[in-house]
Amino acid sequence: MIIRGGVRHLQIWKCTSASERPCPEAAGACDRWHSGWFLPALCIPQERATALDELIVTSADGEHLPVHTRNRRDARRTSYVWALARDVQRWREITGESGLAPDSSPAENEAVTYTEQVLDSSCRYGEEGPHSSGPRPQRELTSGTGLHTFDNAPDHTLLQPTRPIALRLSPRERLAVAAELRCPPWEIGPCMLCATAIHRYGPRSPKVCSGCRASATIQ
Ligand SMILES: [Zn+2]
Ligand SMILES: [Zn+2]
Repeated sequence: MIIRGGVRHLQIWKCTSASERPCPEAAGACDRWHSGWFLPALCIPQERATALDELIVTSADGEHLPVHTRNRRDARRTSYVWALARDVQRWREITGESGLAPDSSPAENEAVTYTEQVLDSSCRYGEEGPHSSGPRPQRELTSGTGLHTFDNAPDHTLLQPTRPIALRLSPRERLAVAAELRCPPWEIGPCMLCATAIHRYGPRSPKVCSGCRASATIQ
């Protein structure tokens, strides 16, 4: 069984107009450095997914560690993720966060809100800025990735991907694989577990190859 959330990889990148990720904090590129925890499929280059039976072993022997990331602006917005010990160490070095669970008592001045509170129905047409009609504070998206932004390049910026699953096929090889699998060449992609070329994209296509699926269901 592939773990779809939960296992994350550390990504560090310089935010320029040429970078492959959009800036998580500003509309354009901010020219600073960002780091965050990303799902394997969203890593650049893409990392291999972790199967549940693998995580059971690697979490026991310390290869994967539990990390507690929090939003810098609101300490109560937090996520628990599993990450490779190497990534956790890097992340502690560059962010100074311990990754341990914080004291979770709510701040004294925090307003209490309820899901069934009346929505604000006043018209805000033409006003500046983002508005929300709900009285509850908006959830921030950055807590999930534990986003950090730096002005200067952190030391050892280049994190080698641990388990990249990039598919390196020449155009001719891709055509041959597509003919064999009877699908268009642009729907060929790597198996999330072993990187074999499979019919990965398009409607109802699987994320893992039949071999990996068979071994996952037998256990
Ligand atoms: Zn940026
Ligand atoms: Zn496979």
